[in-house]
Amino acid sequence: MIYEAEWVLPITSSPLPQGAVLVEDEEIKDIGPAEQLKARYPEQKLKNFHHAILLPGFVNAHTHLEYSVFRGFMDNYEFGEWMLHFIRGRKLLASDDWVASALLGAMECVGSGITTVGDIMSHGTATLEAAGTFGIRTCAFAEVFGMDDANIPGVLRNLDGRLERFRAAATPLVRLGISPHAPYTVSGPLFRALMAYALGAGVSVATHLAESKEEVTFVRNGAGVLAHDFRELVGWDELMWMPTGASPVTYLQQWGVLSSNLLAAHCVQVSPEDIEVLKEHDVAIAHCPKSNAKLACGIAPVGDFLEAGLRVGIGTDSLASNNLLDMFGEMRVGLLLHRASRQSTEGLQAEQVLRMATLGGAEVLGLADQVGSLEPRKKADLIAVDMEYSHFSPIDDPVSALVYGANQEDVFFAMINGRVVYSKKLFPDLDVQEITSRAKQARAKLRSSRQAEESRTSAS
Ligand SMILES: [Zn+2]
Repeated sequence: MIYEAEWVLPITSSPLPQGAVLVEDEEIKDIGPAEQLKARYPEQKLKNFHHAILLPGFVNAHTHLEYSVFRGFMDNYEFGEWMLHFIRGRKLLASDDWVASALLGAMECVGSGITTVGDIMSHGTATLEAAGTFGIRTCAFAEVFGMDDANIPGVLRNLDGRLERFRAAATPLVRLGISPHAPYTVSGPLFRALMAYALGAGVSVATHLAESKEEVTFVRNGAGVLAHDFRELVGWDELMWMPTGASPVTYLQQWGVLSSNLLAAHCVQVSPEDIEVLKEHDVAIAHCPKSNAKLACGIAPVGDFLEAGLRVGIGTDSLASNNLLDMFGEMRVGLLLHRASRQSTEGLQAEQVLRMATLGGAEVLGLADQVGSLEPRKKADLIAVDMEYSHFSPIDDPVSALVYGANQEDVFFAMINGRVVYSKKLFPDLDVQEITSRAKQARAKLRSSRQAEESRTSAS
C-alpha cells in the first residue's frame, strides 16, 4: 500500500512536499514524491491522507507505563517529597492494578503517535501485557533495586527468573533489558554486577542518573531526604552509606559502570566535567524536560550534550511526574527551556528536536537500524498528523509547525511494524471504555488511602 500526504518527513533527509511511502508487510519498501511512487508501483493500492503530515512514529526513550494511574496525583511536590508519596502509593496497588495502569499508558502512547517505548518495568508483566495488547514496540527494562551487598547473588538469581518469565510473555516487538534504578537505590557493587550480567546476557541497560539536587546531596554528602526519610521508608536505614564526595556521574564512573551499553535518563545535575565523562564512556541520554521541570529538578543542558556529540533521545518519563505522554509537548518544552536558559536562539532548532524524538530515541535504545526514520528496509512504524486544524494555518515549514504548534490530539493514524494500530482516532478491536474504567478503579485505591491519611492527620 502507498501512503500519500501533503508532507512526508523522512527525518534523515529534507521534508517531501506531496510525498509518499510504500509499505509492504512489515517494512518500508520505498519513499519519494507521490507521483513518482504511483508511477513506479501502479499495482499498489493507495491511501491518500491529503492535508496531513506523515512521519516516523515517535520513540519515547524513557517512560514507565505501569505508573499511569498516578497521573495528577502528586502535582505539587518537589522530587524528594514526590518520591516518598510515590513509594507509599505504590504499596497500595495489586498486580491487576498495574496491568490496568500500563494499558492506560500504552493507549495514550499509541494514540499520540508514540510507536516505540523505552520502558522501565517494576511490577511483573504488566507492561508486556499492555505492549502486546496495543502492539507497541518496546524496549522493556527490568528494574532492580538493592543496597545490601550480602544479597547480590540473590538479586541476580531473582533477575534470571524474572527475565525468563518476561521472555515467555513478550511479543516479537519486545526487546528485554535491565535497569539498575539509580545511584541512590543500587549499591556500587550491585551496579557493577548488573553491568556484567547485561554483557553476559547480551541485553542493554537503562538507569536514572543525576536527576535531582536530592540525589547529588545524597551521593556527595550522604545527607538529605534520600539519606533519611527515604531509606527509612524502604527499610534500608540499617545499611551503611558513606558520603562519596563525588557527583552522581563521577560516582558511577568510579564504579566502572559507565559504558555505551548504558542509557541514562535525566542527567540534569551535571557539570561540564560530568558531560566530558559521559562522552568519554559514550553513555546515551534520555532527556525528559517536562518531568524534570515539574519536579523542580532543573533543566538538563541538552544543547551541551549535543555539542559534545552524545546520543540523546527524548522521554516523557511516567504519568507520575508528567501529566501527558505527549512527545509534541516534550519537544516544544525542551526547545523552549533550552532557549530560555541560554537566552539565545542559537543552537537547538526544531529539526534537531524532532530528530531526537524519533531517530535519536531509536539510537539510544539500539533500534536505529529498525525505526526512527522513513527509509527503505526500515520497519513500517509511521504516524499521520492532521493539519486541518486552525493551529496549522498558515503553514510553510511542517517541521516547525509540528514542534512549535502540534499536540497529541492531532495524530489520527499510527502503524507499527506494518500493522495499523490507530486509525481515524480509533483503536480497532479494543474497548477503550473498559481500559479507562479499570484504571479509574485502581486510582480509587490511591485516592481513598490519601483521604484516610488526611482525616488521620486532621484528627490528630
Ligand atoms: Zn523514570
